[in-house]
Amino acid sequence: MDAKQIRKTFIDFFESKDHQFVRSAPIVVKNDPTLMFTNAGMNQFKDLFLGNEQPVFPRVANSQKCLRVSGKHNDLEEVGVDTYHHTMFEMLGNWSFGDYFKKEAIEWAWELLTEVYKLPVDRLYVTVFGGDAGDGLARDEEAMHLWLNWVSNDRVLFGSKKDNFWEMGETGPCGPCSEIHIDLRSEEERAVTDGRDLVNQDHPQVIEIWNLVFIQFNRTQDGALKELPAKHVDTGMGLERLVRAIQWKQSNYDTDLFTPFISEVEQLSGKKYGQEEQIDIAFRVIVDHIRAIAFTIADGQLPSNNKAGYVIRRILRRAVRYGYTFLGFREAFLYKLMPTLAANFGAVFPEVAEQLDFVSKVILEEEQSFLRTLDKGLRILDQIKSELDEAGLRVISGQQAFELYDTYGFPLDLTSLIAREQGYSVDEVAFAKAMAEQKDRSRAAAEQETGDWVLVGDEEGTEFIGYDELFTSSRIIKYREI
Ligand code: ATP
Ligand code: MG
Ligand code: MG
Ligand code: MG
Repeated sequence: MDAKQIRKTFIDFFESKDHQFVRSAPIVVKNDPTLMFTNAGMNQFKDLFLGNEQPVFPRVANSQKCLRVSGKHNDLEEVGVDTYHHTMFEMLGNWSFGDYFKKEAIEWAWELLTEVYKLPVDRLYVTVFGGDAGDGLARDEEAMHLWLNWVSNDRVLFGSKKDNFWEMGETGPCGPCSEIHIDLRSEEERAVTDGRDLVNQDHPQVIEIWNLVFIQFNRTQDGALKELPAKHVDTGMGLERLVRAIQWKQSNYDTDLFTPFISEVEQLSGKKYGQEEQIDIAFRVIVDHIRAIAFTIADGQLPSNNKAGYVIRRILRRAVRYGYTFLGFREAFLYKLMPTLAANFGAVFPEVAEQLDFVSKVILEEEQSFLRTLDKGLRILDQIKSELDEAGLRVISGQQAFELYDTYGFPLDLTSLIAREQGYSVDEVAFAKAMAEQKDRSRAAAEQETGDWVLVGDEEGTEFIGYDELFTSSRIIKYREI
């Protein structure tokens, strides 16, 4: 099965169980001060779980575009270095809003994985919440018994609160979860170590694929847990990992979700994937990051200098620098991957295909603008490192990192990454101080220069002269001293 069929099979399966297909919410979150990007399928249903809204459909299935590069879920440093964490990924989910609960969720998950996708039963492990004495939480016997209808005892493991208990926040809906993991190692490796011992141990071939959350309680202000009158199911399965398991590959990047992009980067760079680790990381970073960048821009977030816009700019610059240093790119190249992206994802996410020209143009301009200063910045960084060597030091100062940021457009995490590659580090605290000082300076300067709306009375000798059309809305000058 190719990735398209695998995605469609998921939706078809749950439609056959009376679920309504719902489109992915945008990856950019606009109306939630606690979240910049969608990082899980549940985000768009938050109000249903909180009871602020009533569900239109009690059962829903979807494939949600997610981004995990900030806040509680930040996988950025893993991406490309490992082969199963992405910045942007698709989370397949089935949902019950006060409708079915553990029994059906467990039965259907098992049916889909083993009978429809035909994943080998002797490679799957299931985790169940094992309780938490400190919190007075009992282990999830109910889920344990339900799993034992399908799985043998030795394939079920009890897990900790960290892995197997989900909470939306300090208060609110929460509950135990069960996760399904797969062991993709070779027979030889399996003979040496039992797969059970590698579950949740960051082993690159023993990976988590599906999380089934049973939203069963409400945590109140005083920390107590109350059983919810209507219980919910919230599941999330990473499509990229599922495809890898079904296609039986060693890496997500060897599946047809990524191979068209890898081939394209091979052609553009003249380098081969799969021969040298550092080059491979660069390939993986680039084919991962282009998805995050493109989907986010298509959903309306342009790269910029603050908040969500800066997150995207940082991801883009990270990709450009990997291409520059390890694959020899000297000109913009990321935007060239856009037609492949539109061709591969356009049918499922029409927003990328419909805006192909626009998104390509934004990426091209961003790339060009960073490439203008990248080379110079890298040379300065080399110089800093040789000066440190001479002095027998390993820490790049906050001021130096700030200059790279301010003059050469190097985001702090990029400077830190490059530094780390060669055994240096950056004084990030001092960087933050330099940054804050600059903000203070520019704030003071801005206040002096204009002030968006300066109310000045007659006695100060001012009069309203209308809007200055030369300025954009954020900098309208409304008064002028006479
Ligand atoms: P992991 O432990 O591997 O980091 P997680 O426990 O953080 O995963 P969940 O929050 O449970 O992940 O999300 C549900 C599913 O989404 C996971 O089982 C996995 O298949 C997928 N997933 C999570 N993070 C990523 C990511 N960064 N890239 C690709 N898939 C992911
Ligand atoms: Mg994680
Ligand atoms: Mg996990
Ligand atoms: Mg998980």
